[in-house]
Amino acid sequence: MQHADHYLLAGVMGFPIMHSRSPAIHNHWLAEYGLLGHYAPLAVKPEGLEKALRALHPLGYAGVNLTIPLKELALPLLDEIDPVARAIGAVNCVVVEKNGRLRGVNYDAFGFVASLQEAAPGWRADAGPAVVLGAGGAARAVLAGLIGEGVKEIRVANRTLERAQKLAAEFGPSVHALDWDQREDALSGAALLVNTTSMGMLGQPPLDIALGGLPASALVTDIVYAPLETDLLAQARHRGLKGVDGLGMLLHQARPAFRDWFGPMPQVTPELRRKIEASL
Ligand code: NAP
Repeated sequence: MQHADHYLLAGVMGFPIMHSRSPAIHNHWLAEYGLLGHYAPLAVKPEGLEKALRALHPLGYAGVNLTIPLKELALPLLDEIDPVARAIGAVNCVVVEKNGRLRGVNYDAFGFVASLQEAAPGWRADAGPAVVLGAGGAARAVLAGLIGEGVKEIRVANRTLERAQKLAAEFGPSVHALDWDQREDALSGAALLVNTTSMGMLGQPPLDIALGGLPASALVTDIVYAPLETDLLAQARHRGLKGVDGLGMLLHQARPAFRDWFGPMPQVTPELRRKIEASL
């Protein structure tokens, strides 16, 4: 935590970066707490990452978020990597210690679980199997979150089966890899469905899946947040299934980062959600 006797600084590094909603989220909280400071979008390319990270301490930065394409590249460049970030294989938040050491953490798993719990307060890890569609970076964070909560069976279906098998080998016996063609069979008896593929995003085709096999009590979550209601979530709504959109994950992952840099643990208020929704 930084002392409030100087201008507080943090930001998000990535390339491209101007689309990022993180500045709006963190600047909202700085203003809410009456803290003098700023959170900036920082256009950093992979070849400039190491120098940019090492400049944080001399410039007085409390830390930064990392986004595409830097999240994985930062791992060997930092002084310490938190075990969750190590398991996910990516860093989404860097904390600058007082002595200048750089600590890498990943709050995407926290964000996913916190969003789920906020949107569906009755959700329990022992409710039944989870189905995760996709095996990319976001899937790794979702698996870390679900396993951390104690979900006993996770069925991962991915277009490229080998990537799902790699996740099953890394994340342990609760994770089962399935072929993409098995994605609808996998819904049988499931308590939770999570889309972590990029299908359904603006500019991408919708996710091709029929939800008929899901029990009526199942939760459907999509981590895509632009658009806020994807075809998957619209289908869930038509079937009377509870849906959770991807904006909550984005908002909640920001909370512990703000706390690590500036002290207070901020909340996701309806006002903040409305503000970010309006910018999508
Ligand atoms: P990624 O590493 O590139 O992974 C993309 C995944 O989508 C892979 O599993 C890929 O399958 C699958 N996929 C892509 N095109 C497909 C198709 N035509 N049919 C079937 N599967 C397809 O991306 P990521 O970083 O995991 O991000 C995925 C999504 O999550 C993005 O939309 C991103 O915006 C969103 N996200 C949201 C949050 C949040 O806070 N809400 C956080 C992180 C990411 P293959 O392995 O076969 O290529």
